Amino acid sequence: MKPIIVVHGGAGAWDLNSERFREAIAACEAAAAAGQAILLTGGPALDAVEAATRILEDAPPLDAGRGSYLNTAGQIELDALIMDGQTLRLGAVAAVQRVCNPISLARRIMTDTQHNFLVGAGAEAFADAIGFPRCELADLLVGGELEAYLALQHPAGYETAEIFTQPGAMGDTVGAVALDAAGNLAAATSTGGTRNKMPGRVGDSPLVGAGGYADNWTAAVSATGHGEALMRILISKQVCDFVAAGLSAQKACQAAIHLLEERVNGVGGLIAVDARGHVGLAYNTTAMPHAFALGDERLQSGS
Ligand code: ASP
Repeated sequence: MKPIIVVHGGAGAWDLNSERFREAIAACEAAAAAGQAILLTGGPALDAVEAATRILEDAPPLDAGRGSYLNTAGQIELDALIMDGQTLRLGAVAAVQRVCNPISLARRIMTDTQHNFLVGAGAEAFADAIGFPRCELADLLVGGELEAYLALQHPAGYETAEIFTQPGAMGDTVGAVALDAAGNLAAATSTGGTRNKMPGRVGDSPLVGAGGYADNWTAAVSATGHGEALMRILISKQVCDFVAAGLSAQKACQAAIHLLEERVNGVGGLIAVDARGHVGLAYNTTAMPHAFALGDERLQSGS
Protein backbone atom coordinates (compact mmCIF):
# COMPACT_ATOMS: atom_id res chain seq x y z
CA MET A 1 0.00 0.00 0.00
CA LYS A 2 1.33 3.45 -0.94
CA PRO A 3 1.51 5.43 2.33
CA ILE A 4 -0.23 8.80 2.48
CA ILE A 5 -0.20 11.72 4.91
CA VAL A 6 -2.46 14.78 4.78
CA VAL A 7 -2.33 17.68 7.27
CA HIS A 8 -4.25 20.92 7.75
CA GLY A 9 -3.71 24.17 9.60
CA GLY A 10 -7.36 25.10 10.06
CA ALA A 11 -10.21 26.38 7.93
CA GLY A 12 -10.96 30.06 8.34
CA ALA A 13 -10.88 33.60 7.05
CA TRP A 14 -7.17 33.52 6.22
CA ASP A 15 -5.54 36.47 4.49
CA LEU A 16 -3.74 34.67 1.67
CA ASN A 17 -1.19 37.47 1.34
CA SER A 18 -0.22 37.56 5.00
CA GLU A 19 3.04 36.43 6.57
CA ARG A 20 0.97 34.35 8.98
CA PHE A 21 -0.54 32.41 6.09
CA ARG A 22 2.90 31.73 4.59
CA GLU A 23 4.09 30.50 7.99
CA ALA A 24 1.03 28.26 8.26
CA ILE A 25 1.78 26.68 4.87
CA ALA A 26 5.43 26.18 5.89
CA ALA A 27 4.31 24.49 9.12
CA CYS A 28 1.97 22.21 7.15
CA GLU A 29 4.82 21.29 4.79
CA ALA A 30 7.16 20.51 7.71
CA ALA A 31 4.46 18.43 9.39
CA ALA A 32 3.63 16.46 6.24
CA ALA A 33 7.34 15.87 5.59
CA ALA A 34 7.81 14.47 9.10
CA GLY A 35 4.81 12.18 8.65
CA GLN A 36 5.98 11.08 5.22
CA ALA A 37 9.44 10.21 6.58
CA ILE A 38 7.90 7.97 9.23
CA LEU A 39 5.59 6.27 6.74
CA LEU A 40 8.34 5.67 4.18
CA THR A 41 10.39 3.73 6.72
CA GLY A 42 7.39 1.49 7.38
CA GLY A 43 6.24 3.37 10.49
CA PRO A 44 2.63 3.22 11.66
CA ALA A 45 -0.01 5.76 10.67
CA LEU A 46 -0.51 6.58 14.36
CA ASP A 47 3.13 7.64 14.75
CA ALA A 48 2.91 9.71 11.56
CA VAL A 49 -0.18 11.66 12.61
CA GLU A 50 1.16 12.23 16.12
CA ALA A 51 4.53 13.51 14.86
CA ALA A 52 2.90 15.74 12.24
CA THR A 53 0.43 17.17 14.75
CA ARG A 54 3.19 17.92 17.26
CA ILE A 55 4.94 20.06 14.64
CA LEU A 56 1.69 21.91 13.96
CA GLU A 57 1.11 22.37 17.71
CA ASP A 58 4.59 23.88 18.04
CA ALA A 59 3.98 26.34 15.16
CA PRO A 60 3.10 29.81 16.54
CA PRO A 61 0.69 30.87 13.77
CA LEU A 62 -1.64 27.95 14.42
CA ASP A 63 -4.31 27.64 17.13
CA ALA A 64 -3.09 24.47 18.83
CA GLY A 65 -0.45 24.08 21.51
CA ARG A 66 1.75 27.17 21.08
CA GLY A 67 -0.27 29.95 19.47
CA SER A 68 -3.65 28.99 20.94
CA TYR A 69 -6.44 31.45 21.61
CA LEU A 70 -7.22 32.75 25.10
CA ASN A 71 -10.64 32.14 26.65
CA THR A 72 -12.70 34.80 28.45
CA ALA A 73 -10.82 34.11 31.69
CA GLY A 74 -7.45 34.71 30.02
CA GLN A 75 -6.57 31.01 30.05
CA ILE A 76 -5.61 28.63 27.28
CA GLU A 77 -7.58 25.39 27.37
CA LEU A 78 -6.56 22.75 24.86
CA ASP A 79 -8.44 19.88 23.23
CA ALA A 80 -7.06 16.96 21.18
CA LEU A 81 -8.07 13.59 19.76
CA ILE A 82 -6.10 10.72 18.25
CA MET A 83 -7.68 7.59 16.77
CA ASP A 84 -6.37 4.28 15.48
CA GLY A 85 -8.35 3.00 12.49
CA GLN A 86 -7.20 -0.60 12.93
CA THR A 87 -8.56 -1.11 16.46
CA LEU A 88 -10.92 1.88 16.76
CA ARG A 89 -9.06 2.74 19.96
CA LEU A 90 -8.86 6.43 20.72
CA GLY A 91 -7.48 8.92 23.19
CA ALA A 92 -8.86 12.38 23.82
CA VAL A 93 -8.20 15.27 26.14
CA ALA A 94 -10.20 18.46 26.67
CA ALA A 95 -9.91 21.75 28.54
CA VAL A 96 -6.38 20.88 29.62
CA GLN A 97 -4.01 23.70 30.59
CA ARG A 98 -0.23 24.12 30.44
CA VAL A 99 0.53 21.30 28.02
CA CYS A 100 2.48 22.11 24.85
CA ASN A 101 1.64 18.91 22.98
CA PRO A 102 -1.84 17.74 23.93
CA ILE A 103 -1.92 15.25 21.03
CA SER A 104 0.75 13.18 22.77
CA LEU A 105 -1.15 13.36 26.05
CA ALA A 106 -4.23 12.11 24.16
CA ARG A 107 -2.18 9.20 22.86
CA ARG A 108 -0.98 8.34 26.36
CA ILE A 109 -4.62 8.31 27.52
CA MET A 110 -5.29 5.80 24.73
CA THR A 111 -2.32 3.58 25.56
CA ASP A 112 -1.83 4.01 29.33
CA THR A 113 -5.34 4.18 30.80
CA GLN A 114 -8.52 2.17 30.70
CA HIS A 115 -10.33 5.22 29.37
CA ASN A 116 -10.78 7.11 26.13
CA PHE A 117 -11.20 10.69 27.27
CA LEU A 118 -9.92 12.77 30.21
CA VAL A 119 -10.73 16.44 30.83
CA GLY A 120 -9.45 19.40 32.83
CA ALA A 121 -7.93 18.76 36.24
CA GLY A 122 -8.14 14.98 35.83
CA ALA A 123 -6.21 15.09 32.57
CA GLU A 124 -3.59 17.35 34.15
CA ALA A 125 -3.25 15.03 37.16
CA PHE A 126 -2.75 12.10 34.76
CA ALA A 127 -0.12 14.10 32.87
CA ASP A 128 1.77 14.79 36.10
CA ALA A 129 1.42 11.20 37.29
CA ILE A 130 3.16 9.87 34.15
CA GLY A 131 5.74 12.66 34.08
CA PHE A 132 4.29 14.14 30.92
CA PRO A 133 5.99 17.48 30.05
CA ARG A 134 4.07 20.54 31.25
CA CYS A 135 4.68 24.17 30.30
CA GLU A 136 3.61 27.64 31.37
CA LEU A 137 0.77 29.70 29.93
CA ALA A 138 3.43 32.14 28.68
CA ASP A 139 4.95 29.36 26.54
CA LEU A 140 1.63 28.87 24.74
CA LEU A 141 0.87 32.57 24.26
CA VAL A 142 2.40 34.12 21.16
CA GLY A 143 2.00 37.07 18.81
CA GLY A 144 -0.82 39.52 19.45
CA GLU A 145 -3.13 37.10 21.25
CA LEU A 146 -2.88 38.92 24.60
CA GLU A 147 -3.76 42.24 22.91
CA ALA A 148 -6.67 40.56 21.11
CA TYR A 149 -7.86 39.20 24.46
CA LEU A 150 -7.63 42.58 26.17
CA ALA A 151 -9.49 44.24 23.31
CA LEU A 152 -12.31 41.76 23.80
CA GLN A 153 -12.76 42.51 27.49
CA HIS A 154 -15.65 44.81 26.76
CA PRO A 155 -17.18 42.87 23.90
CA ALA A 156 -20.14 44.37 22.10
CA GLY A 157 -21.90 41.29 20.81
CA TYR A 158 -18.71 39.39 20.00
CA GLU A 159 -19.45 35.94 18.64
CA THR A 160 -16.82 33.22 18.88
CA ALA A 161 -17.78 31.99 15.39
CA GLU A 162 -16.44 35.27 13.96
CA ILE A 163 -12.94 33.84 13.69
CA PHE A 164 -14.08 31.67 10.81
CA THR A 165 -15.73 34.42 8.78
CA GLN A 166 -14.36 37.88 9.61
CA PRO A 167 -11.44 38.87 7.36
CA GLY A 168 -8.16 38.73 9.22
CA ALA A 169 -9.55 36.52 11.96
CA MET A 170 -9.25 32.79 11.46
CA GLY A 171 -9.83 29.36 12.86
CA ASP A 172 -6.56 27.53 12.78
CA THR A 173 -6.99 24.24 14.52
CA VAL A 174 -4.64 21.56 13.22
CA GLY A 175 -5.01 17.96 12.13
CA ALA A 176 -3.45 15.03 10.30
CA VAL A 177 -4.65 11.81 8.71
CA ALA A 178 -2.51 8.97 7.40
CA LEU A 179 -2.57 5.62 5.67
CA ASP A 180 0.49 3.45 6.32
CA ALA A 181 2.16 0.76 4.23
CA ALA A 182 0.31 -1.94 6.19
CA GLY A 183 -3.03 -0.39 5.23
CA ASN A 184 -3.81 1.09 8.64
CA LEU A 185 -5.46 4.48 9.01
CA ALA A 186 -5.11 7.05 11.81
CA ALA A 187 -6.42 10.54 12.53
CA ALA A 188 -5.36 13.35 14.88
CA THR A 189 -6.83 16.78 15.66
CA SER A 190 -5.61 19.41 18.13
CA THR A 191 -6.86 22.88 19.01
CA GLY A 192 -6.93 25.79 21.40
CA GLY A 193 -10.60 26.15 20.46
CA THR A 194 -12.22 29.44 19.60
CA ARG A 195 -11.04 32.90 20.76
CA ASN A 196 -12.92 34.25 23.80
CA LYS A 197 -14.70 30.95 24.45
CA MET A 198 -16.13 30.36 27.91
CA PRO A 199 -13.92 28.47 30.38
CA GLY A 200 -14.79 24.79 30.07
CA ARG A 201 -16.09 25.14 26.53
CA VAL A 202 -15.23 22.08 24.47
CA GLY A 203 -15.62 22.16 20.70
CA ASP A 204 -15.77 19.39 18.15
CA SER A 205 -12.04 18.69 17.98
CA PRO A 206 -11.66 16.12 20.81
CA LEU A 207 -15.08 14.55 20.23
CA VAL A 208 -14.86 11.23 18.44
CA GLY A 209 -16.81 11.36 15.18
CA ALA A 210 -16.90 15.17 15.23
CA GLY A 211 -13.31 16.49 15.25
CA GLY A 212 -11.91 13.28 13.82
CA TYR A 213 -12.50 9.64 13.09
CA ALA A 214 -10.47 6.72 11.74
CA ASP A 215 -11.69 3.31 10.67
CA ASN A 216 -9.69 0.96 8.46
CA TRP A 217 -12.97 -0.12 6.85
CA THR A 218 -13.65 3.38 5.50
CA ALA A 219 -11.43 6.44 6.06
CA ALA A 220 -9.46 8.68 8.42
CA VAL A 221 -10.78 12.23 8.81
CA SER A 222 -9.82 15.42 10.65
CA ALA A 223 -12.22 18.37 10.85
CA THR A 224 -11.84 22.08 11.52
CA GLY A 225 -14.24 24.99 11.72
CA HIS A 226 -17.02 26.19 14.00
CA GLY A 227 -17.14 23.38 16.53
CA GLU A 228 -20.65 24.08 17.75
CA ALA A 229 -21.93 23.35 14.21
CA LEU A 230 -19.50 20.55 13.30
CA MET A 231 -20.40 18.44 16.32
CA ARG A 232 -24.12 18.60 15.58
CA ILE A 233 -23.68 16.50 12.46
CA LEU A 234 -20.73 14.37 13.69
CA ILE A 235 -19.00 15.53 10.56
CA SER A 236 -15.97 13.23 10.58
CA LYS A 237 -18.04 10.08 11.09
CA GLN A 238 -20.37 11.40 8.40
CA VAL A 239 -17.45 11.45 5.94
CA CYS A 240 -16.69 7.81 6.85
CA ASP A 241 -20.34 6.89 6.36
CA PHE A 242 -20.31 8.53 2.93
CA VAL A 243 -17.19 6.51 2.06
CA ALA A 244 -18.95 3.34 3.28
CA ALA A 245 -21.80 4.22 0.94
CA GLY A 246 -19.37 4.24 -2.01
CA LEU A 247 -18.13 7.83 -2.28
CA SER A 248 -14.43 8.61 -2.75
CA ALA A 249 -12.70 10.54 0.05
CA GLN A 250 -12.96 13.73 -2.01
CA LYS A 251 -16.67 13.36 -2.80
CA ALA A 252 -17.36 12.37 0.82
CA CYS A 253 -15.65 15.52 2.15
CA GLN A 254 -17.57 17.70 -0.29
CA ALA A 255 -20.87 16.03 0.62
CA ALA A 256 -20.19 16.52 4.34
CA ILE A 257 -19.38 20.23 3.88
CA HIS A 258 -22.60 20.56 1.88
CA LEU A 259 -24.49 18.89 4.73
CA LEU A 260 -22.78 21.25 7.24
CA GLU A 261 -24.06 24.25 5.29
CA GLU A 262 -27.54 22.95 4.58
CA ARG A 263 -28.34 21.36 7.91
CA VAL A 264 -26.69 23.62 10.51
CA ASN A 265 -25.51 26.64 8.52
CA GLY A 266 -21.94 25.82 9.54
CA VAL A 267 -18.48 26.75 8.31
CA GLY A 268 -15.46 24.50 8.31
CA GLY A 269 -13.11 22.19 6.50
CA LEU A 270 -12.10 18.54 6.26
CA ILE A 271 -9.14 16.40 5.28
CA ALA A 272 -9.46 12.67 4.68
CA VAL A 273 -7.72 9.64 3.29
CA ASP A 274 -9.79 6.56 2.50
CA ALA A 275 -8.80 2.91 2.86
CA ARG A 276 -8.10 2.67 -0.89
CA GLY A 277 -5.61 5.52 -0.72
CA HIS A 278 -7.64 8.42 -2.06
CA VAL A 279 -7.24 11.89 -0.55
CA GLY A 280 -10.11 14.26 0.24
CA LEU A 281 -9.99 18.00 1.01
CA ALA A 282 -12.95 20.39 1.27
CA TYR A 283 -13.86 23.62 3.05
CA ASN A 284 -16.34 26.47 2.77
CA THR A 285 -14.16 29.16 4.37
CA THR A 286 -11.70 31.47 2.61
CA ALA A 287 -8.90 28.95 2.93
CA MET A 288 -7.55 25.93 4.76
CA PRO A 289 -3.75 25.69 4.61
CA HIS A 290 -2.79 22.07 4.02
CA ALA A 291 -0.10 19.76 2.71
CA PHE A 292 -0.01 16.13 1.65
CA ALA A 293 2.39 13.49 0.43
CA LEU A 294 1.55 10.41 -1.64
CA GLY A 295 4.14 7.66 -1.24
CA ASP A 296 7.60 9.06 -1.90
CA GLU A 297 6.30 11.76 -4.23
CA ARG A 298 7.17 15.39 -3.64
CA LEU A 299 4.99 17.16 -1.06
CA GLN A 300 2.09 19.21 -2.30
CA SER A 301 0.71 22.15 -0.35
CA GLY A 302 -1.86 24.87 -0.81
CA SER A 303 -4.68 26.94 0.60
N1 ASP B 1 -13.10 23.33 15.53
C1 ASP B 1 -12.39 24.12 16.51
C2 ASP B 1 -13.29 24.40 17.66
O1 ASP B 1 -14.43 24.75 17.46
C3 ASP B 1 -11.85 25.39 15.97
C4 ASP B 1 -11.17 25.34 14.63
O2 ASP B 1 -11.30 24.40 13.88
O3 ASP B 1 -10.46 26.32 14.30
O4 ASP B 1 -12.83 24.34 18.79
